[in-house]
Amino acid sequence: MTHVITQPCRGPRCAACLAVCPVDCIGPTPAEPAWSRAAMLYIDPELCIDCGLCVSECPAKAIFPEYRLPSRWRMFMLINAMFFCLTKNRR
Ligand code: SF4
Ligand code: SF4
Repeated sequence: MTHVITQPCRGPRCAACLAVCPVDCIGPTPAEPAWSRAAMLYIDPELCIDCGLCVSECPAKAIFPEYRLPSRWRMFMLINAMFFCLTKNRR
């Protein structure tokens, strides 16, 4: 299980969630080159410990646990995972 960032993050990309994640599995961060290219933030499903701390921090209500993901945003499970597949060692 993991948490997933969805469509409403596009635009605000406020980074509030970054500050509360205890395992630093949200990215990219403003310190990474990928920050300027990223349309939104993503959660690494291999590292997320499902603590849920990021959910209430998000002003856009963009973060969901996988099991509560609205069906229209199920594709974001793949989108979040793909970001880390494509950028590992390049961020
Ligand atoms: S659920 Fe917890 S571990 Fe997973 S992204 Fe949110 S804050 Fe990080
Ligand atoms: S707190 Fe929400 S809107 Fe802000 S960067 Fe994180 S997911 Fe995106």
